[in-house]
Amino acid sequence: MTETHDPHQESAVAQAARKDQLVFQDPVERYPAIEPPKRQQSEPGLDADLDPPADIGEHSYRGTGRLEGRRALVTGGDSGIGAAVAVAFAREGADVAISYLPAEEEDAQHVVSLIEGCGRRAVALPGDLTDDRYTAELVPQALAALGRLDILVNNAGKQVAVESLEDLSDEQVTETFTVNIQAMVRITREAVRHMPPGSAVINTTSIQAYAPSPTLLDYASTKAAINAFTKGLAQQLAPRGIRVNAVAPGPIWTPLQPAHGQPVDALPQFGKQTPLGRAGQPTELAPAYVFLASSESSYVLGETLNVNGGMPTP
Ligand code: NAD
Ligand code: MG
Repeated sequence: MTETHDPHQESAVAQAARKDQLVFQDPVERYPAIEPPKRQQSEPGLDADLDPPADIGEHSYRGTGRLEGRRALVTGGDSGIGAAVAVAFAREGADVAISYLPAEEEDAQHVVSLIEGCGRRAVALPGDLTDDRYTAELVPQALAALGRLDILVNNAGKQVAVESLEDLSDEQVTETFTVNIQAMVRITREAVRHMPPGSAVINTTSIQAYAPSPTLLDYASTKAAINAFTKGLAQQLAPRGIRVNAVAPGPIWTPLQPAHGQPVDALPQFGKQTPLGRAGQPTELAPAYVFLASSESSYVLGETLNVNGGMPTP
């Protein structure tokens, strides 16, 4: 019976989330191996509807003052990895603007309340990254609200699984490339005009850049492009004191996955193929972004930090 999920699972994730990331703990056991039901959400998916729920660090991320006074823009900051990053940045002392789709307002307001709960400023900037006007206005709006910008996290992403190349439409290919790579280029181009030396750009790529699934041809291609963009731009911006890096997550339990990101039959097995034997939780990604945003990584540029449960990468 994979259709119904174990009622104890929910409390198991919630229970695990009571320990913070700095506690000595076994990574195999830190979170339970979830078995999501074969049930899909419609795109873009909501954290509020995720079954089982995910940990974005609400109770488990402890800040240590590593981003005191910084100002960050996080795209896709309403849910999943972006939400976990926004929460962690605020706990580390940063003000945070988040970009997200208008349909995700419920998730976004939850993240806003968590940022404000840390005594930091939260800025909500809803809009669609396939809309050129929104993409062009995003950085100016974030700057106007935050007063400055020294961290940019390009994290928004579209992932829709398609079984066969013959069924992969031009529209989907265009939309995936527009959201995942074209918007990243546009937003970064505008942001770096305003970012002072010491700033950091962090792009979310994926294990899919190296180990593409047969059902994710368009998505995996954009993630390989993001790695190349990151490594090239890092060299270009190094002399200006702006560091560019990427984080490559493995299978992380976020709304993107049950919102057509995986074939529905694959959901119960999600993440079990990793050496750790379980899917990652969004907050397990946050320390990688904090590290790359903070000045402690001053000599780290053009790097892709893999956070994937142990799957080998090139
Ligand atoms: P998520 O659904 O929580 O986040 C993706 C976000 O992208 C959405 O919340 C949405 O706000 C934003 N987005 C999508 N289309 C948009 C559009 N047209 N306009 C504006 N915003 C849009 O899922 P997530 O897994 O946290 O994804 C975050 C990033 O992590 C993505 O780049 C994804 O490719 C990457 N990633 C995820 C996994 C995983 O297993 N979950 C693995 C590797 C990489
Ligand atoms: Mg979302």
